[in-house]
Amino acid sequence: MTDLSLGGPTPDVADDGVWLACVECGDAIAPFDDVVYECPDCGGLLEARYADYPTFEEFSGDGVWRYAAALPFDEGVTIREGNTPLYTVPEIEAEADVADLRVKHEGANPTGSFKDRGMTVGVKVADRLGVDRLACASTGNTSAALAAYGARANTPVLVLLPAGKVAAGKVAQAALHGARICEVDGNFDDCLDVVAELADRGEAYLLNSLNPFRLEGQKTIGLEILEQSRDAHGHLPDRIVLPVGNAGNTAALYKCFRELVEAGELDKSEVPKLTGVQAEGAAPMVEAVENGRDYVERWDDVETRATAIRIGNPVNAPKALPGIYDTGGTAVAVSDEKITEAQRMLAEDGVGVEPASAASVAGLLKLRERGDIDADERVVCLTTGHLLKDPEAAAEAGGDTTPVPADADGVLDAL
Ligand SMILES: *Cc1c(COP(=O)(O)O)cnc(C)c1O
Ligand SMILES: [Zn+2]
Repeated sequence: MTDLSLGGPTPDVADDGVWLACVECGDAIAPFDDVVYECPDCGGLLEARYADYPTFEEFSGDGVWRYAAALPFDEGVTIREGNTPLYTVPEIEAEADVADLRVKHEGANPTGSFKDRGMTVGVKVADRLGVDRLACASTGNTSAALAAYGARANTPVLVLLPAGKVAAGKVAQAALHGARICEVDGNFDDCLDVVAELADRGEAYLLNSLNPFRLEGQKTIGLEILEQSRDAHGHLPDRIVLPVGNAGNTAALYKCFRELVEAGELDKSEVPKLTGVQAEGAAPMVEAVENGRDYVERWDDVETRATAIRIGNPVNAPKALPGIYDTGGTAVAVSDEKITEAQRMLAEDGVGVEPASAASVAGLLKLRERGDIDADERVVCLTTGHLLKDPEAAAEAGGDTTPVPADADGVLDAL
């Protein structure tokens, strides 16, 4: 049985008040002695734990490292990640007919996705462990972020991508930042199987969201949403709607809220309802939630134009499903058509996102229509990546160009 409770005594293996705990068997593991991703005893997922969980008063500065008191270090390998905008989106708010709608746009991070928040912490841990190669499997954004942070830390990066299924902007980023890019004849889940084996053999340090330290960095999305919401209108959101791939963010947000409850900063009743959205062609988490299961069954064949969430085996499901159930949230699948429609709606409010990001808005609209979200709710939709990540999808979703002669009258005639 998964046990995600915090608190209790600090084990001997803790290093400066930080340790890793197995969420299945409860074993405590020293955080920085050896490279470890899963419980050596039972293979369960690991989670970072702390002797103390901070209050909001302990945070200062901006960006991810504003929240150093909630992280394993005072500083990381940084290119100034975090501090992303929480936008109002008047047109979509009216369409969704909810009390308040904001969009937390993670596309505003240095490499254009929330993955930067995880890497600033994860690459720092790699540095501390003294590894000489970083690696990840990726639907694109993880590789772009790891390539940039690896470059910053001067550590070689290996990325495994599903051949032909990664958006152009992301491959370009990984290439320019100097990662070694291997295109695998298989899907993302196959890539992860391979890179996990390389990591097991000690050939590379794994920086997929299986790595518990990445999720520590991604926790700061939740902290920012709460602080920004309070500043904007004096209330916390009732619900956070987010796209789900490997369910790392869902797990990270839930951990953020559990820590705030543990610190006495948040009442359990105030915790926003975590609401996951997947594409219809890659929806194993939705299937699990619809059947009330606490595990997912792997989908071997997945397809969606939202390539960032084209994942059939969400590795963080054991941490994320309890988050959805415990907060009173839900999960929903949306069609690629609705994703593109939502991408256009966001663009009309001035917010440019890649397809996977728009799934959050498509999910909100579908759940409102079904009556699963009430009109009096305050909602935050997470948009995970920038429009320029997938220029092809953006061009297809947008209007056509108009050929004109090189004179003003010609242009006016064409309008
Ligand atoms: C990685 C990614 C996701 C999926 O996030 P998980 O934490 O794996 O669920 C969604 N959208 C974008 C743009 C991403 O890069
Ligand atoms: Zn274990």
